[in-house]
Amino acid sequence: MTAQIIDGKAIAAELKQKIRAATQMRLATGKRPPGLAVVLIGDDPASKVYVGSKRRSCEEVGFKSESFDLPASTTQETLLEVISTLNQDDEIDGILVQLPLPSHINADVVIEHIAPHKDVDGFHPYNIGRLVQRNPQLRPCTPKGVITMLQSSGIELKGKEAVVVGASNIVGRPMALELLLAGCTTTVCHRMTKDLEAHVRRAEILVVAVGKANFIPGDWIRDGAVVIDVGINRLENGTLTGDVEFDSASQKAAWITPVPGGVGPMTVATLLENTLFAAEHLHI
Ligand code: NAP
Repeated sequence: MTAQIIDGKAIAAELKQKIRAATQMRLATGKRPPGLAVVLIGDDPASKVYVGSKRRSCEEVGFKSESFDLPASTTQETLLEVISTLNQDDEIDGILVQLPLPSHINADVVIEHIAPHKDVDGFHPYNIGRLVQRNPQLRPCTPKGVITMLQSSGIELKGKEAVVVGASNIVGRPMALELLLAGCTTTVCHRMTKDLEAHVRRAEILVVAVGKANFIPGDWIRDGAVVIDVGINRLENGTLTGDVEFDSASQKAAWITPVPGGVGPMTVATLLENTLFAAEHLHI
């Protein structure tokens, strides 16, 4: 079998086109554009790239984007003050604080300081709790983007054996909650999982978010599985690769996401989708 590619770039472009059209409709009816504030602390090169892409995407769809680039020495108190101001700002619907934060700032405190109705990353305990309770509001972008990709490709999820490898707060755990919500029987694997191979071999839907290049051998993939590779790893020669051995996995899977051009573009498009949702339905 040679897997069909799930083209995240194309699906994200289509989603952005819909968001752009909805934004134009808002403007045509005299409403203001959705507003996203993107806060970056320090000079981490990868964070700068991600933030740049989020800001550019805002412009592409006609949102108002406000940038706050603060030095690495910024105190937690100052950052909380910036967030308090944005929480009150009538033209801002979404607040994104780029992670990771410098070690002197407690990310949990910062996330909990964002008003839940402006938490477009979906990491606030209120929004995670809503997802746990099967009544989601603002949903973590990468997992929600994966669900959108699966739905756009016409892949049935109800009753499927789903296995998520990786259990972080931003990808693995909310991914498992999304798959559960979609009707999968879901297993989450992490560092302490005893027989990872056995779990992966059972998976009809496999999502891998570990952050180790080619961590999952292609011959572990179940025949006909759907493989979603969230990992982004830069090799010594500068190329980007995922967590799954792509070529050998493609021989066994029915569907597979490439890296780059798979989940990455969906994360940014879903951030815009969340911001539009916040503007349309949650703005107080
Ligand atoms: P993370 O916070 O480092 O979490 C990695 C997870 O992998 C942890 O839950 C860890 O388990 C698990 N893990 C590590 N070694 C393992 C092993 N040997 N066996 C089983 N599980 C193992 O990383 P993350 O933020 O979730 O990101 C994961 C990857 O996705 C990274 O490459 C990141 O760049 C990428 N990413 C991509 C996007 C996108 O838009 N495409 C978005 C976010 C992240 P423990 O919990 O037990 O430590």
